[in-house]
Amino acid sequence: MNYVFTISDKDLKKFITYYQKIEENSEDLKIKHRFKTDDFSITVYNSNKVMFQGTRGYNEYKKWADIFGIETLPNEEELPIIDYDNQYYNLRVIGSDEVGTGDFFGPVVVCSAYVTPQDYTFLDTLNIKDSKRINDREIRVIGEKLISQISYHILVLKNEKFNELTSQGYNMNKIKAYLHNHAIKKLVDKHSDYQKIILDKFCSESNYFNYLSGETVVKNIDFLTQAESIHQAVAVAAIIARYKFLLAFDELSKEIGIVLPKGAGPGVDAIAKVIALKHGEEVFNKIAKVNFKNFEKIKKN
Ligand code: MN
Repeated sequence: MNYVFTISDKDLKKFITYYQKIEENSEDLKIKHRFKTDDFSITVYNSNKVMFQGTRGYNEYKKWADIFGIETLPNEEELPIIDYDNQYYNLRVIGSDEVGTGDFFGPVVVCSAYVTPQDYTFLDTLNIKDSKRINDREIRVIGEKLISQISYHILVLKNEKFNELTSQGYNMNKIKAYLHNHAIKKLVDKHSDYQKIILDKFCSESNYFNYLSGETVVKNIDFLTQAESIHQAVAVAAIIARYKFLLAFDELSKEIGIVLPKGAGPGVDAIAKVIALKHGEEVFNKIAKVNFKNFEKIKKN
């Protein structure tokens, strides 16, 4: 498996300094640099494309992508096998998934989607798969198409509200449980002919219902891990959630005048520092999850 990203000239300098001891000569005119060990090889092309190969290729790729704030796809070998041909295949299913819980910037987005076997022909044209295998650009295209054809309910929990809830002692899983229950309830009311509800599992079943004590709760949910690979309703919910997350992220970036990075790694800290200098700490309540460690790091400086 090859992993590739494109690097800026500035980042490239740092990159080649790091690997200079293992540089090899290359006769190929398209190649700028080539680095090689027993475990991995890295090729830097004239176009500034960097290709990682070998058994440790993914590790090196991931390490630098995090440092440079480059969007990565997960290691194909670690992703679950998709098998939609299972006991759920012939059923009308409500699937639910969320996004944004690992991102310092931006909202938490939960989506429930309703998919029946009649939707399969349409979904096949979009090649629906685990959203982790799809990059942001494709998510925007597929997401746009899905929302015009598939019945769904979306909840976007803005940062201000999220921060208010966590300051009241809500943890992330309790927040997720509330949002999922609410979105699922909406679809259950709308599609009373549904046969199964599948939730991409994020906590134990008993915790889920404990978080929701006192609420009107939808029961009879199948809590499945890696549910995106098990039924397309969950895959669709995940894609729509990520699509709406990207749109919300665009809005925040525009408001703040900086392209916000995803995740919670060093690239995020770097941008957070710039924002703190420019706008002060107060602005983070509106654009970020202030219970993340990233926020403590800003305050220390
Ligand atoms: Mn999930």
